[in-house]
Amino acid sequence: MKQVYSNQNNLLAINSRNLLESSGIAVELKNEFTAGSAVPGHAIAIEIWVNDSDYDQAINLLASAANDDGQDWVCKKCNENNTASFEICWSCQSEHT
Ligand SMILES: [Zn+2]
Repeated sequence: MKQVYSNQNNLLAINSRNLLESSGIAVELKNEFTAGSAVPGHAIAIEIWVNDSDYDQAINLLASAANDDGQDWVCKKCNENNTASFEICWSCQSEHT
């Protein structure tokens, strides 16, 4: 397996995982449960790993999501702004409707 992504913000990491899974790529998260409880100064990044055969597709998906110039959206539940690549609100994890 290969690592395609890491982020200390677990909501951003989970958004990336959702993006990959919605495209049919099997993903494995590492540090999912330790990252959120990390003490300041010792933040642990969540890592997303995929099968070697999915690596190129996963990298392309994440790159295109990062460069997505689609419309940002405002969460109907908490009124926070979300970037277009997010499928769930970073703040309250509501689905984008
Ligand atoms: Zn929200």
